Amino acid sequence: MKILCVLYDDPKTGMPKSYALDKLPKIDKYPDGMTLPSPKGRDFNEGELLGCVSGELGLRKFLESNGHQLVVTSDKDGDGCRADKELVDSDIVISQPFFPYYLTREKMETAPNLKMAITAGIGSDHVDLQAAMDRKVDVVEVTYCNSRSVAEHIVMMIVSMVRDYHTQYAIVNNGGWDIADAVQRSYDVEGMHIGTVAAGRIGLDALRKMKPFDVHLHYFDRHRLPDTVEKELNLTFHESVESMVEVCDVVTINCPLHPETEHLFDEKMINKMKKGAYIVNTARGKICDKDAIAAALKSGQLSGYAGDVWFPQPAPNDHPWRTMPHHGMTPHTSGTSLSAQTRYADGVREILECFFDKKEIRNQYLIVQNGELAGMGAHSYSKGTATDGSEEAAKYKKK
Ligand code: NAD
Repeated sequence: MKILCVLYDDPKTGMPKSYALDKLPKIDKYPDGMTLPSPKGRDFNEGELLGCVSGELGLRKFLESNGHQLVVTSDKDGDGCRADKELVDSDIVISQPFFPYYLTREKMETAPNLKMAITAGIGSDHVDLQAAMDRKVDVVEVTYCNSRSVAEHIVMMIVSMVRDYHTQYAIVNNGGWDIADAVQRSYDVEGMHIGTVAAGRIGLDALRKMKPFDVHLHYFDRHRLPDTVEKELNLTFHESVESMVEVCDVVTINCPLHPETEHLFDEKMINKMKKGAYIVNTARGKICDKDAIAAALKSGQLSGYAGDVWFPQPAPNDHPWRTMPHHGMTPHTSGTSLSAQTRYADGVREILECFFDKKEIRNQYLIVQNGELAGMGAHSYSKGTATDGSEEAAKYKKK
């Protein structure tokens, strides 16, 4: 079989010769008892850079020794890109949300052999899920592999944004000691009302991680959490996003992108928020209207916006979030720490082993199977597509 793997570029200075840490901490299980990915073999050292082209997700030896062909490229956008050329006779496509290969209906139609799209990570909105259902292409992801990595990033972003860390860090780098300048937008998180849109693996972990800051916790989700969890964390459940955002100082967005959530945070929703609130969005850029966010930061309706997700990706050089005031944006990195890469590379291998051995892929990994939303897909997504406009990613020019 032919496997096409679309990965981000290697570091500008080449692959690392050594790493900051020799070993990763050992994690046996995820909090709900789910086991970590468990492939039969592994051809890389844990903690290595695997998500870039030379890292190959550690798959080449395994695939080639089993008679398969592996093509790895970062050339994924614009007419005539290598990924599109290789797609036409590929059986399986692997891509990471950090640098997504937008598998639109048009592209799928060029690939009659395509059987499966694997997301090396979590969040399969870069695949036209409706087209995958219509064409019986299965879609799978490595559920839980980086959910807790993202929750750590959320905590980092809430605290750094409310305390205005970025301004203070810049002052030091510029040789200054301008304390009044440094603190004029700096507050404590303690006592604030913090709410999450969705309390799945990431949202719930973010709530748990924020609890020790002595804040008031709120959530909205289409699935209500068990009573015991609500009591343990003293959570306020809201029947709608609107009811939650009216009372929160910080809103963190943790639902998948699908037709129900696309542009959920538009001008109307932002205007329902408490004046001066903050948003942390590490879910997907397109859940927010990019121009409405930039305008709200300028007007003061929002005090800050941070996250690592954009639309499309890479974000065009003139994307307003690169230059809007009071932002704490990073590139899409929260789920691709070296710790997370080991887990999702293992997960991709586990999925491939099951597929080649005709064994069932874990139900938790399924998004689309046999033409229907399945597993996590049925729990967390709705039918349709959210890939419209993804061709804009070709506008990005490397610096
Ligand atoms: P999950 O499936 O455990 O949780 C998703 C939750 O969203 C579920 O509880 C579901 O009920 C809820 N939900 C779905 N649609 C909703 C709606 N319309 N309104 C309210 N709630 C809704 O997944 P997770 O591991 O928590 O990941 C969530 C999302 O975060 C992913 O789909 C992905 O888009 C994003 N993510 C980002 C990164 C990153 O690197 N930034 C990494 C992993 C995941």
